[in-house]
Formats: sequence, structure tokens, C-alpha cells
Amino acid sequence: MIEKELKKLGEILTERKEHIEKSLAEIGHRKGGEFDIPFPEYGSTSDENAMEVADWERLKATESALEIELSQIVKTLESIQKGDYGLCQNCQKPIEPPRLNAFPTALTCINCAKAVAS
Ligand SMILES: [Zn+2]
Repeated sequence: MIEKELKKLGEILTERKEHIEKSLAEIGHRKGGEFDIPFPEYGSTSDENAMEVADWERLKATESALEIELSQIVKTLESIQKGDYGLCQNCQKPIEPPRLNAFPTALTCINCAKAVAS
């Protein structure tokens, strides 16, 4: 990948990273190694309690999806900086360009991704 494209990708990923960090800060806060999501308080009827649980679980799911994306972005930004972006972190072969286009934060080639998934 040419340097100009890498720089652009770095900018896009940095923006996305900031956006994710902001969203996470809205959901809750990090306490030690844990991410603490405050339990919503709507009231004390059973409907309200059920809604509190549902919303809390939804926030938790959102939070873990954002955390996964964030860690992929951080790793990708690191590899751009190190200059090994686009190389499979498992077998060191170049990752297929269509895969990188579809998943700019892919860290492994299709073969290695399949090996992990199976
Ligand atoms: Zn590989």
C-alpha cells in the first residue's frame, strides 16, 4: 500500500478511535481493569426493572463490541507505525488486498483467519 493511502487510513482509524473512546465514556467508565457500566434507574415497578436490565445488557453488548473494535484499531495503528501494515501477523505473508479493503483492521490473512475460526 502506498504511503499516502496509509496516512489516510491512519487518519480514518484515529478518528474512529476517538469516536469509540467518546462513546465508551458515555456508557460508563474504566475501573481498574474492568469497565463499569452504571445500572439505569427508571423506577421500582417490575416493568421498569425489566427495562433497566434490558438497557443495561444492551449497553454491555455495545461496550464489548466497541472494545473489540478499539483494540483492533489500536493494533492496526501500531502496525502502520511499525511499517508492517498489510502483513499477516501470523504467517507474515501479505494480506489479500480485497480483504484489507473490506476489513482495514484485518491482522491476519484469509488462510490464517480460517485456521483460527475452525
Ligand atoms: Zn497468514
